[in-house]
Amino acid sequence: MAKKKKVEETKSTEKNKGKEVIPTDNEQIVTQSDIITSETQRSPDEIAEENTIAQKLMSLYNLQQIWSKIDKIRVVRGELPNEVRDLEDNLEGMKTRIAKYYADIEDFNNKIAAEDNKILDSNILIARYEEQQNNVRNNREYESLTKEIEYQKLEIQVSEKHKVRFTAEIAKKQEEITLLDEKLEEIEGLLQQKKNELNNIIADTEKEEKELLNQVEILQSKVEQRLLSAFDKIRTNARNGLAIVLIDRDACGGCFSMIPPQRQLDIRLHKKIIVCEACGRIFVDRQLVENQNENNAE
Ligand SMILES: [Zn+2]
Repeated sequence: MAKKKKVEETKSTEKNKGKEVIPTDNEQIVTQSDIITSETQRSPDEIAEENTIAQKLMSLYNLQQIWSKIDKIRVVRGELPNEVRDLEDNLEGMKTRIAKYYADIEDFNNKIAAEDNKILDSNILIARYEEQQNNVRNNREYESLTKEIEYQKLEIQVSEKHKVRFTAEIAKKQEEITLLDEKLEEIEGLLQQKKNELNNIIADTEKEEKELLNQVEILQSKVEQRLLSAFDKIRTNARNGLAIVLIDRDACGGCFSMIPPQRQLDIRLHKKIIVCEACGRIFVDRQLVENQNENNAE
């Protein structure tokens, strides 16, 4: 291991200063003298502790990688039903429009029936006036009845005109309904297809998620409870679900706050667990991650 070799080298070149530093998880700030000591001389206990911290950090890092995959699956799955919901809304809107057209048709049919009644009434009146014309006493009465008959005939004509207009309106609405019915059928087919797709995807991703959750459980069992609780708490509060981050271009990989060089050095030493002062996320040394990736590649 390259790191152990480096420790041996520093041991042989530097003098033992005899100072012991036992890191605790609560201690966040590493002083300069601590670092010098740790670089120059380390007892086997310290090295073991450092390895433990490195292991803890890598366990959390690996746990984070799996959680991030799970988060991604959940986001994708969360967005899929939207497409189905949009189609359902679309379908509902069409059904409402069709219902409205049917209501309009009923309305026009009622109006036509009303006009028919008016025509019937007019015809009754005309028959009565014609009957009366046979019994008039003078021309004036006869003319008056003729005028009434003409008026009723005009009324009938107006009603017939209305009926023609209403019938045309009904035909128009029925045409719309036919078109909408066709579209409705199309969308219903599409909706069924999307629902099947969605169910398949949900089944697939649930299977994948379950496998990942199993991996989470295995990794969690390797982390002490106190650290795991802290990690879970940070993860829950972090907007991107990241509880452990790398330093990227001198900034926190979670909140992008600049990290002072001294603190970056402390992180590289991974003698203790160091968190971002701005966002509280745990830092992991990039070298540790790269070492693991190299080992995995071998
Ligand atoms: Zn941060």
